[in-house]
Amino acid sequence: MRSQNVTIKQFPFMNSFKNSICMPHFVTHLESAIDGTQLEFETIQTLHEGRPLWVKYDLNAVKANMDKNTVAKREPTMWRYRELLPTGTDRIEVTLGEGMTPVLQCPTLGKQLGLKNLSVKDESQLPTGSFKSRGQAMAITMAKKLGIKRVAIPTAGNAGGAMAAYATRAGMESFVFMPEDTPIVNQYEAYFFGASTYLVNGLINDCGKLVRDGKEKMNWFDISTLKEPYRIEGKKTMGLELAEQFDWKLPDVILYPTGGGTGLIGMWKAFNELREMGWLDSENMPRMISVQSDGCCPISDAFEKGERFADPFQNAKTIASGLRVPVAVGDFMILDAVKESGGRAMAVSEDKITAWTKQACSAEGISLCPESAACVGALEQLRDEKWVGEDDNIVIFNTGGLQKYVEVMETELPRIDLSQPIDWTSI
Ligand SMILES: *Cc1c(COP(=O)(O)O)cnc(C)c1O
Repeated sequence: MRSQNVTIKQFPFMNSFKNSICMPHFVTHLESAIDGTQLEFETIQTLHEGRPLWVKYDLNAVKANMDKNTVAKREPTMWRYRELLPTGTDRIEVTLGEGMTPVLQCPTLGKQLGLKNLSVKDESQLPTGSFKSRGQAMAITMAKKLGIKRVAIPTAGNAGGAMAAYATRAGMESFVFMPEDTPIVNQYEAYFFGASTYLVNGLINDCGKLVRDGKEKMNWFDISTLKEPYRIEGKKTMGLELAEQFDWKLPDVILYPTGGGTGLIGMWKAFNELREMGWLDSENMPRMISVQSDGCCPISDAFEKGERFADPFQNAKTIASGLRVPVAVGDFMILDAVKESGGRAMAVSEDKITAWTKQACSAEGISLCPESAACVGALEQLRDEKWVGEDDNIVIFNTGGLQKYVEVMETELPRIDLSQPIDWTSI
């Protein structure tokens, strides 16, 4: 490892963190995504003009202090890219061991879809069973550094459990508000991981309003999707990891199930930062496909209308609970990323999500969540349209594990009655 003294000499953004002794990081400032206004980093920030913030780095300094060989030798966790993260080289992360997730080849599912190079990046193997762990590990780590002691979140499912787990890990008090028809496992995991957990007779945006309205009275910090700047940075590690696993040459097409959009936005930010640093060995940037269910598809509706901002989606309903986000504050960030990449935002049939889930899980033995099964449907359509070619290198992100969705999995299984002779011909 390089001596930190070198970093300290070269890098001006040192020691300015008010609550810490020394935090060598490469962040220059925060920047409003809507109008470019620059804001100070080492202080609590939320939205600007109601819209999210980017974390901006001195990428030249990162490049001078980080190299691929050093990264390759580090622990295989999301923290191995620390120079490109707001935590910098400081080591007080709040962690449950966020290991690198595997890229699994899918020859059987690929064959069914007429694709030779299909793989799944399996985020279900993270702590709390979904990629939400990456965002929450980072958001809670930064909240802790900033002295926050109480956090609250509205959730459609997995974010609540992840936030509860990391808040507990950090010694913070946490509050989770979710629609009363949130998958049962998500309801209980938040509670078991130590959050004060409430069921609300409304949608996620109603829960969001509760968190906003309670802010003064309850003195909590709002960890809602994109309302603080660091969840994106945590999710960015999906993109950094993918690039490293693909030997710094990115795949042709990435399919991503989209709710609030942090995953897709974060990944696109990662690719751009790597490109700017000259770390990518090919000019080829992937086409990003944002996938939603036609039961809740504000982003694909806006994409089809050629608009940069999405209208609220009425009567949002989908069994893929992570996609049930009728209003996204980062809508324009998702749509900008999709367009810049030459990709698309699509909606697939809600009625087929369970069938696609079964198809993919039984073809590959991967625990594919219904959100990611929607990506299988999208691929079917993209193949029919010949928008993707047989030889394209394609990656579906499996954002979570199927086991959490007992409502989707519920199936009548055949029974064996031991008091009767067994009919082997029927087995
Ligand atoms: C939250 C969630 C999504 C949507 O992710 P965003 O990054 O918010 O768009 C997709 N799948 C699962 C399983 C989720 O929990």
